[in-house]
Amino acid sequence: MKKNLKVLGSILAIGLIIIIIKVYPFMKFMNSFEVVEVDKNLTLALGGGGNSAILMSDKEVLVVDSKIMGGKDKLFALVKEKAGNKPIILINTHLHADHAGGNGLYKGNTIIAGAYTKEQWIEENGEGDGLPTEFLKDKKEIQVGEETVIIQNMGQAHTYNDVVVFFKNRKMLFMGDMLMIGMHPFLKENNGSKISLYLEKLNKALEEFQPEKIVPGHGRVGGKELVAEFQTYFAETKSVAEGKLELSAIEDKYKDWIPFLSMASTEATVKYWKKELGIK
Ligand SMILES: [Zn+2]
Repeated sequence: MKKNLKVLGSILAIGLIIIIIKVYPFMKFMNSFEVVEVDKNLTLALGGGGNSAILMSDKEVLVVDSKIMGGKDKLFALVKEKAGNKPIILINTHLHADHAGGNGLYKGNTIIAGAYTKEQWIEENGEGDGLPTEFLKDKKEIQVGEETVIIQNMGQAHTYNDVVVFFKNRKMLFMGDMLMIGMHPFLKENNGSKISLYLEKLNKALEEFQPEKIVPGHGRVGGKELVAEFQTYFAETKSVAEGKLELSAIEDKYKDWIPFLSMASTEATVKYWKKELGIK
């Protein structure tokens, strides 16, 4: 009996080590935290969950996405350091915890997210202080100092209500997880992920805003080439799903993209395409 317990303990320990090794690149990627001072009123905080922005004016501060784990506290400390007690407007690009996990820290301020139901939000994030104060159906413009901020609900793509944020004067577009670079997307049916709509909405956002700088939900900042890169990823995984391309032909190309166990990987995206296209 004792021997059996020892064997079981060893198997569990080995299993745990394998999981830690597999999850480590993801945790490292999610925990990286880089501050980029774009200009005197705009700071980007990349990593630590989803990419975030802090936009300042004399009267208020606008924050895009509140991050998760240690990143959420680092971001909030940075916001307070810059904004003091100015009112904060927090925008969540979508409801996933790596973008909305720090919402509770902003209690008493304005929190804007897409038009999810309260139940959908609570199912994903639990009950707490982080519930948005406004669930945006379509579009809203806010003046923050010299910057005109357009918040647009793009509808269903990565989730049921993905919001993009456009800084009009800076021609900078924050796309949340409608765009992910260097990391495989989390595709979840119960959150409304639909790849064909991703592709449609990516083009729509580019057409509508004509951005010069694009900030993805995860990964490096760039221009329109980032969207093309992500569209190629989806086009190639679709070809694999349709049997036109071998998985091995693209696996090497995306080997540096961060996976998350079997939930986010080249193979997981191919599987999701198959389900979406009704391919057995
Ligand atoms: Zn994310």
